[in-house]
Amino acid sequence: MTDHYDLITIGAGSGGVAASRRAAALGAKVAIIEGRRVGGTCVLRGCVPKKLLMYAAQYGDAFAEARGYGWTLGEATFDMARWAQSKAAETTRLEGIYRKLLEGSGVTLIEGYGRLDGPQRVVVGDRPLSAPHILIATGSSPVIDSIPGIAQCATSDDLLDLTELPATAAIIGGGFIAIEFASMLARLGVQVTLFFRDRAPLRGFDESLRVAAASALQAAGVQVRAGLVPSRIERSSQGLLLEFGEERVLEFPWVLNATGRRPNTAGLGLDLTPQGAVPIDAGMRTALPGVYAIGDVTNRKNLTPVAIAEGRALVESLFGPVPREVDLSLVPSAVFLIPPIATVGPTEDEAVAAGHRLKIFETDFRPMRQAFFGGQERAHMKLLVDADTDRVLAVHMMGADAPEIVQSLAVALTAGATKAHFDRTIAMHPTAAEEFVLMREVSRHVPPATTPATAPA
Ligand code: NDP
Repeated sequence: MTDHYDLITIGAGSGGVAASRRAAALGAKVAIIEGRRVGGTCVLRGCVPKKLLMYAAQYGDAFAEARGYGWTLGEATFDMARWAQSKAAETTRLEGIYRKLLEGSGVTLIEGYGRLDGPQRVVVGDRPLSAPHILIATGSSPVIDSIPGIAQCATSDDLLDLTELPATAAIIGGGFIAIEFASMLARLGVQVTLFFRDRAPLRGFDESLRVAAASALQAAGVQVRAGLVPSRIERSSQGLLLEFGEERVLEFPWVLNATGRRPNTAGLGLDLTPQGAVPIDAGMRTALPGVYAIGDVTNRKNLTPVAIAEGRALVESLFGPVPREVDLSLVPSAVFLIPPIATVGPTEDEAVAAGHRLKIFETDFRPMRQAFFGGQERAHMKLLVDADTDRVLAVHMMGADAPEIVQSLAVALTAGATKAHFDRTIAMHPTAAEEFVLMREVSRHVPPATTPATAPA
């Protein structure tokens, strides 16, 4: 017998759960299908455990700082097994909360893998379900075929399940995951060599942040090998051999593959983009009537809050009084290296290409907390201001608490703040954040590109 619903969501990660609960609150009868644990990548294998490892790594710096602040400490050692045990308990607790939230919202959880089975139909095992609206929220998984042999390397999932850290490690990739884990592992006592193919890490970020990130990694003891990635990887008796062309081979006991993630589309039967993602329109509709997709499976902006915003906008359009689209023109994001990066708005290059005449306000300094004990960590802040309208187009920062600061400034940018608004804001002293309202001197004037591109800004 077929069970009927108003909405069937495939995938109980952050986006799928948020959409399903909001739909149920709007009166829809909802089923959500999950083949692994409830909570998805962010809660169980990504953002949350990653940030808990970052907190662990930050203690390494804090112990050194504490001495400069008058503390006497004994020898500090890190026990990955104890961290792993606490992390497992925490993710189990969070999974329990997610299950309770679904139950409390009246959403039916169906465990197993769902696949589309004709119009308005989904099958889980041999259980048929039907609904006029089907939401694909299946997320993404690590790419394991980017380089011959890379499937033998660890992924971020494996790293977060380690109970013992290697003494030496190689990391391949220069994106979010590579940079965050290089920074953390170095502080936890691992000798890290980072290989990426571009001239600087974090392609797509503002140049100032890319340069600052490379310096911060080097300062943490990471060997940064820009413009160099292995062409093949082979297993050896001691670990893994990274082959660079014909003659050069380096051996590492442990290697992290951080070469990107790919949408989970197996068994869905949908047409895909050349990058393997489910294409959607502004209303999150796929090419199949009544089938929608949100989050990483669409490979637009692969960030948890975006998936949640997309899911809620979709179900409010389907079951609420007023349809709405989600505005992704100003999405803040953070890279949790130490110190972290946070950004909202276009890079300088993107703003110039979009035809803006820019005033750039930039500062780079050693925060009070560092200066006191002789620490060398710096803070870098940058504002992009449209010289014609005075609108603040972007905020870029690397430094302690950058994600907390930039999240708040993102509200101002969303509200259309001008540089005059920043100048009128009274500073809060003594903070690092006050520098954002105290930058008065233009650092540089930048003309627009002669042929503006159509890039959004
Ligand atoms: P990214 O897309 O950020 O980075 C992938 C990296 O792998 C890039 O440096 C890329 O190089 C490199 N790469 C890709 N293919 C190859 C290849 N064949 N050979 C060598 N290098 C290669 O992916 P991540 O895996 O780091 O993260 C996945 C997604 O997860 C991110 O896009 C992000 O949206 C999300 N995420 C967000 C976090 C946050 O919000 N803090 C944290 C972690 C992940 P190149 O640049 O040259 O293409």
